[in-house]
Amino acid sequence: MNQKQLLETIAAMKMQILELLLNANLANDKQAQRTFKTIENMFKRLDLDVEDVIPVEVLQNYFNGVDEATKALSKVGVDPVNGLSSAITSSGQVASAFDTHVHMEAIAAITDDLMLDFKSAIRTARQNTYFTLKTTLAEVKEDLQKGIIQGNSRRVITQRVAESFAKDGMKAFKTIDNKWLPLDFYSQTITRTNLKMTHTQGAGERYRENGMDLYTVTGNTPTCHQCAPLRGIVFTLNPNRSDYTYMSPKDIIRHPNCQCSMSVWVEEYKTESEIRSAREKSKAFNPDKDTRTASQKQQYEHQQNLHRQNNDSKKQFARYKAVLGNDAPKTLGGFKRSKKSGSENFKEMQQKYRAKVKEIRSS
Ligand SMILES: [Zn+2]
Repeated sequence: MNQKQLLETIAAMKMQILELLLNANLANDKQAQRTFKTIENMFKRLDLDVEDVIPVEVLQNYFNGVDEATKALSKVGVDPVNGLSSAITSSGQVASAFDTHVHMEAIAAITDDLMLDFKSAIRTARQNTYFTLKTTLAEVKEDLQKGIIQGNSRRVITQRVAESFAKDGMKAFKTIDNKWLPLDFYSQTITRTNLKMTHTQGAGERYRENGMDLYTVTGNTPTCHQCAPLRGIVFTLNPNRSDYTYMSPKDIIRHPNCQCSMSVWVEEYKTESEIRSAREKSKAFNPDKDTRTASQKQQYEHQQNLHRQNNDSKKQFARYKAVLGNDAPKTLGGFKRSKKSGSENFKEMQQKYRAKVKEIRSS
C-alpha cells in the first residue's frame, strides 16, 4: 500500500460503514454489537496501515528531495559531496553515503510527528463514531419504546443511526475556530502537506551538506497569494546568518497541495551588484505582501476556476457511475463532453440518475 491507496481507503471508509449500518438489523442487540465491533476493527486496521505506509513514504519523499538537490547542485556547476548517484539504491536500500545521522535523524523526527498526528485523528474519528452510534441507538430505541416515534422499528433505527453517523461519525480533528474536519479530508491534508515538507527538508539537508545555504523558491506560475511573496527572494538555511532572511525548508510549503520547491543559489557565481540587490530584497521580505500583478492574479483565479470545474465534474462522474453503472458514459472525458454539449442524452441520463437516487433513498 502507498499513500495514495491509504488515502483512498480512508475516503471509502465512510461509505463502507454506512453500508454496514444500512444492512444490519440494529434493533437486534447482538447484531448491533457485532456491527460496532466490525467498525472498530476497520479503524484498528487503518491504524496498522498508517504504520506500514507513513515511514516508507517519508523516507522516499525525503530522499527524493535529496536527489533533486543533487541534480540542482550539479546543474549549477557544483560537484555534490558523494557524487551524483541516487540516495536510494535500485534494490530500495538507503545508499551508505546517505545513511548518516543527520539524514536519519531528520527522517525519524518527521515520521514521528506525522504518525502522531495521523493516529490521533484516527482515534478521534473512532471515538466519535462509537459515541455517535451508541447514543443514537439508545435514543431511538427509547423513543420507540415510549411511542414518540412509530413505524417499522428496524427501519426507523437504521435510518436514524445511519443519518447521525453520516453527520458526526467521522469527525477527526477540531480546528482552533471549533470547526470539525472529517477524517478523509484531514488525513489527506496532513499527508500531502507533510510529505511535501519532507521533500524540501531532504533538499535542504543536501544543500547544507554541500556547504550551500542560500536558495530561492520555485514553482508553478501563476501562483497563489501565499506563495507569491517568496518568489524571487534569496533565503538562507542558516539561522545565524544576518545578511539574508532565514527560512526553514519546510516553511516554504505554505498550504496543502503547495507545489513549491527549493533551488540552490550560489553566491560566488554572482556579481557584486547581484549580491547586493539579493540581500536587500531578502531583508525586505514580507510574507504577507501579495507581490502579484493584477493580471497574474486574474490568471491564477482563472486557472483555479478550471480546476474546480474539473474536480466537480470528476466527482459528479463518480456519483453517476456508482448509481447508473453501465448507463453512465465509460470515461470521464466522455462524461464531460456529454455534459458540455447539454444534449438530450445528457438530460435523459440526469433524469435517470435522479430517479435512481430517489428510489435508493426510499428503499
Ligand atoms: Zn501556493
